[in-house]
Amino acid sequence: MSTIFSKIINKEIPADIVYESENILAFRDINPQAPVHILIIPKIEIPKVTNIYGKEHAVLLGEMIDAANKLAKEMNIADDGFRLVFNCGNHGGQEVYHLHMHLLGGRKMKWPPG
Ligand code: AMP
Repeated sequence: MSTIFSKIINKEIPADIVYESENILAFRDINPQAPVHILIIPKIEIPKVTNIYGKEHAVLLGEMIDAANKLAKEMNIADDGFRLVFNCGNHGGQEVYHLHMHLLGGRKMKWPPG
């Protein structure tokens, strides 16, 4: 089932897009939890982490991490470090069922997460 992120991919609703390629899109989270909070998503509809399989998805995930590294450098958070997060399902706190990787940085993160 399509989510609000499909509308962002199709440019039907606005988003602060910071990176786009043939396969992925990255935009600023509307409710940022850190000075840098970007969502990196595949353009194809994969609901969540448990729907990932096979080599094709492995390449896609590699692209998503490449984009995160590129954006972290651009936003000057690469040296201090950052956090990449996938929330999966109810206990993981997932709200939008279109796969997305959170790139969080610009402050010291706590552990364990809440
Ligand atoms: P999750 O809880 O992992 O599913 O994260 C979903 C994230 O999407 C949350 O951090 C929301 O703030 C964010 N979000 C929801 N709608 C939008 C939107 N239209 N533009 C940007 N970020 C959004």
